Amino acid sequence: MSASGFICSATVLVLSFVLLSLPAKAGPVLSDQQITYLKRKGQVTYCIDPDWLPFEALSEQGKHIGISAEYIRLLQQMIPVPLLLYPTADWPSSLQAAKDRRCDLLTLAMPTPSRLEYLLFTKAYLEVPNVVVTTKDKALIRSVADIPPSSAVGIRSGFGTLELYQQRYPQLKLVPFHDYEQGLLQVQAGYLYGMLGNMGSISYSLQKNAITNLKIAGRLSEDTLLSLACRNDDPLLLEIFDTLLLQISPEQKQQINNSWLAIRYEQSFNYELFWQMLLAFALLISVVSISYLKLKKLNQALLEANLRLEQLSQHDPLTGLYNRHYFEPRVQQALALCQRQQLPLTLAMMDLDHFKDINDTLGHNFGDQCLKDFAALCQRQFQRKDDLLVRYGGEEFILVSVGSDAETMQQLLEDFLQKLEAHQVRLNHQQGYCTVSIGWYCQIPPATMDSKQLVELADHALYQAKHSGRNCAVRAASEASPDY
Ligand code: GH3
Ligand code: MG
Ligand code: MG
Repeated sequence: MSASGFICSATVLVLSFVLLSLPAKAGPVLSDQQITYLKRKGQVTYCIDPDWLPFEALSEQGKHIGISAEYIRLLQQMIPVPLLLYPTADWPSSLQAAKDRRCDLLTLAMPTPSRLEYLLFTKAYLEVPNVVVTTKDKALIRSVADIPPSSAVGIRSGFGTLELYQQRYPQLKLVPFHDYEQGLLQVQAGYLYGMLGNMGSISYSLQKNAITNLKIAGRLSEDTLLSLACRNDDPLLLEIFDTLLLQISPEQKQQINNSWLAIRYEQSFNYELFWQMLLAFALLISVVSISYLKLKKLNQALLEANLRLEQLSQHDPLTGLYNRHYFEPRVQQALALCQRQQLPLTLAMMDLDHFKDINDTLGHNFGDQCLKDFAALCQRQFQRKDDLLVRYGGEEFILVSVGSDAETMQQLLEDFLQKLEAHQVRLNHQQGYCTVSIGWYCQIPPATMDSKQLVELADHALYQAKHSGRNCAVRAASEASPDY
């Protein structure tokens, strides 16, 4: 292997871009119904970030280039209507265009709570490690906790990563920049401790601006997970693109990756930085191998990082709603707030009816589609800023809402029951309906109540709803338990 070939492969290895290996399927890609739907729609418009290489950009000639352009080319081959680029001046304009429904899709986006208000997301199809770049004198960074508390860190504005880190690490002093270059210059000048971003953009920017006196100080435990985002009033379109993405094989993904990452790095490779990183890596390996204790410590750190990552994953991948892990502390907060400020608190426990029968008769995939449709309808129905929607278990969901009175909640819940009952779930050639039973609690919670008791009250009312024939909402009696 030539030196440049070796460097190229090694770089790809070091960069660790993880391709999600979804299996390619044989047979027709879309159902007749999906094709008819697309033909009736006539075209699908999409927006990109016009300045985010290597992921995507608009060339000087106004052409869509980058990784997402390759994906669009593959997707275009699978559908009978044109995929049309709706050009924008910058990423915030693309988000606004999606919000205003001027475009149907965003090619590469991360799900964040604010975006879930108007977008639905396919399964992630690109996963990119997040790193921190610092000057060479700084210590190794393995997690956000390794960044000194009062130090400011740059980050790109307008991206889901900013929202994610602001939410997870409110103590972190994040300074947003319009582009990576500005942030990196501030790190060089010593005004910032470091610059945080995904490995692809950061490396691209270091190379493009020939910045050699900075180092990648470490990889953070969270990765940037990128999906196609679709307007949330068009769930069928989401279903179509989820299906299409499944057709793209790991080999095709690898090819796209190679053409936009490997070659680019070979052409303008920073040899100095590379050898320094390699040397540091080799030193680390030898130190680790001669000291069992240090190895044990590293393993422990790795274990802790994995645990942290596990704890930090807050969303249910199927429905995009929050998961149970996220729910527990949030419901306690809501309860404490309502007890302190004497506000009504609603907790509605919703369990799909005869869901086992749906799985048994129409199949597990259809069951999954019901869960996705149910979640999307919930998000449309319960849209107050502080409403919390959670997938609590298999086919059980919880809504927590602060401040609404019982009459308002009753109307909302009953209206929701009707909408769900009338909603036809469709997957390929199959269609069906599902209903839900709801047990709900709504009142100013007594000071002695804890979150376990709150959930139990709603659960008890749900039990009654099931026994009253299902497809109904039963409110928990305030005197349900002698304890509170
Ligand atoms: P009930 O009206 O009394 O709630 O009846 P049910 O059939 O809904 O309740 P049961 O607890 O008997 O069955 C729940 C079913 O939900 C069984 C399980 O296979 C299914 N389920 C749980 N999680 C998932 C999932 O992620 N996808 C699919 N498709 N099915 C799921
Ligand atoms: Mg159940
Ligand atoms: Mg059920």
